Amino acid sequence: MTFLHLTASPSVAGSDHPLIGVLALQGDVREHSAMVRELGAQVRKVRKPEHLEGIQGLVIPGGESSVMDKLLRIFGLHQPLKVAIADGLPVLGTCAGLIMLADNLEDAIVGQETLGGLDITVRRNAFGSQVESSEADVAISGVEGPPLRVAFIRAPVVTRVGEDVAIIASLPGGEVVGVRRGPLIGVAFHPEITGDDRLHRLFVESVRRAKFQVPALQTA
Ligand code: GLN
Repeated sequence: MTFLHLTASPSVAGSDHPLIGVLALQGDVREHSAMVRELGAQVRKVRKPEHLEGIQGLVIPGGESSVMDKLLRIFGLHQPLKVAIADGLPVLGTCAGLIMLADNLEDAIVGQETLGGLDITVRRNAFGSQVESSEADVAISGVEGPPLRVAFIRAPVVTRVGEDVAIIASLPGGEVVGVRRGPLIGVAFHPEITGDDRLHRLFVESVRRAKFQVPALQTA
């Protein structure tokens, strides 16, 4: 029997150590950065439009989505980031980051917008004020081994999932808390709190596979 050895397709420079941005407007920037760095990625904190240039993936941490939305506009990041995501930038969005990736929101504040990219509807603060914060073990499809210990902090929930979006995590009650479309991964919880890096590993691998890179910004 013979085996075909396919030659690797031309890859984006440095894709073994992809340059991954961490949106650094609020949230656990340090924890996410440490995790992706440990997994072999190079890390860049993203605060300005020019920081997007050359990145091959982006982590959007948790925080407060309505504030993040305002900060993205103030820093001029909203439009270029929206375009980069639409063009194929791999993103791991956690909690408020999931909200930012949703095409539709329930319980948004007046005027709140998202970046979009995932054909889903997300309800903010879905677990009510009684359950401000809790930890849980969540099985995530694509993540090997035992369920991941994660934290839910004023967490959202996915209430509608479009046809091209896969559900990768749900709670015992059926609530959808993780979704994926190719290299766009959104989870309602914080995976960075307990030091288990398996979801970040899944993301870094999908960044390596995507071989996407944000091109130089057009200056008009
Ligand atoms: N409740 C927050 C929001 O609506 C999300 C909370 C979080 O990211 N931990 O943006």
